[in-house]
Amino acid sequence: MTQTEERAELNESELVPIEKIVSLCKRRGFVYPNSEIYGGVAGIYDFGPLGVEMRNNIRRYWWWSMVQLHDNVVGIEGANITHPRVWEASGHVENFVDRLVECKKCKRRFRIDHLPPENLEKHVCPVCGGELTTEPRVFNLLMETYLGVIEDERMKTYLRGEACQNIYLDYDNVLKSSRMQVPFGICQIGKTYRNEVTPGNFLFRQREFEQWDLQFFVHPSEMQKWFDYWKSYRFDWCQSIITHKERLRFRAHGSDELAHYAKQAYDIEYRTILGWQEWEGIHWRQDWDLSRHSEYSGQDLSYTDPLTKERYIPWIVETSGGVDRTFLYLLLDAYEEQPDPMGKGNDRTVLHLHPWLAPVKVAVLPLQKNKEELVNVSKELYRKLQRLMVAQYDDIQNIGRRYRRQDEIGTPYCVTIDFQTLDDQTVTVRERDSMSQIRVHLNELPMYLFERVTWK
Ligand code: ATP
Repeated sequence: MTQTEERAELNESELVPIEKIVSLCKRRGFVYPNSEIYGGVAGIYDFGPLGVEMRNNIRRYWWWSMVQLHDNVVGIEGANITHPRVWEASGHVENFVDRLVECKKCKRRFRIDHLPPENLEKHVCPVCGGELTTEPRVFNLLMETYLGVIEDERMKTYLRGEACQNIYLDYDNVLKSSRMQVPFGICQIGKTYRNEVTPGNFLFRQREFEQWDLQFFVHPSEMQKWFDYWKSYRFDWCQSIITHKERLRFRAHGSDELAHYAKQAYDIEYRTILGWQEWEGIHWRQDWDLSRHSEYSGQDLSYTDPLTKERYIPWIVETSGGVDRTFLYLLLDAYEEQPDPMGKGNDRTVLHLHPWLAPVKVAVLPLQKNKEELVNVSKELYRKLQRLMVAQYDDIQNIGRRYRRQDEIGTPYCVTIDFQTLDDQTVTVRERDSMSQIRVHLNELPMYLFERVTWK
């Protein structure tokens, strides 16, 4: 489906409370609070065994579609620490700030750019109705660190406050070493650190998180064409991995939000229980970043067209999104509690994750664990599948419970080995969403599954 096609109505009662996802993530090993045994650290999380598989799948799908499918895009992986001047040139040292007001009654803090206008104007707390402080306090979000061990020789610098700066820093090296010509792009997925003053809502606003960026370098005359291309491409990408297409939209930035060099900017937003929230930004950066780094570093970062010999600073289309926010939105999108239609207590929680992104692709389930013939066939099959995709072997409890366990972590296929298998070499393949079952021959099974869980 593309962005122009008709969509279902948004049903607010279907929006999933974030606490349900937090609980599932902890219970099943997707995400844990960081340093939990010491009481935790606000806004910092660790990914567990299933979380890391799913996160890797999300990253790989992004990389595949952005870098591998585009002849004119290459990737880099920059360091988390850079020269401190980078953050002066980028404007972060001066301007990367949050402005905060506090409620005098309930002591809650609010970013003024997140307050409803009427609350801001009348200085009224949106939670308890108390009075808000009038003069906002200003906090810089950059995380400081020091390089070197000897006190006098230590250099203060910063953990990167946005991942994309490495791309500007490496732009000239990429041009010289990879034979790219404008128009071309550089992609990167990398960690970002921000001293967020209001971390919260689980993975939505963290202090250490991961971003993916494309910086696409163009001739100024082609800026609009490429802006439109990437805007539409990224929307379709987000749409390709969610079930609830009606929860996705563009939001154009108003003139008061646009940077002085930007003709336009759009957020791709996903609707959660918190309201419409940013997933990814599509930005018109013009020649701002390369010009600033030219100025601050003293290096000429202009480009000479090999045919026309025209010399200019390329303009940039940026698409910048969050890996962790994608992870959270995908879980919110996929989570469903289904009551048993027969009312017999066989309710199930199911994650309708796209098979491409599900952490486990297939579960191999021998019908009985004490029948040697069944176990032998099952283990042999499991070893075979394990080489192709992430597979689990499960022989604990009855088959119904095992299906439920796999549904809850989003495993798209369960394969059951039963007595018929011993006769005709077929197994039962159960599909997660429809719960439909078919018999597939053991020889055909690897290809049957592989085709369904691999993106193309
Ligand atoms: P916000 O206005 O919500 O603070 P931003 O506009 O500063 O976000 P960008 O700097 O454009 O965000 O970052 C690009 C992407 O990184 C965002 O679209 C979002 O998906 C993700 N992101 C930003 N801040 C955080 C955070 N604190 N925790 C997790 N993901 C984040």
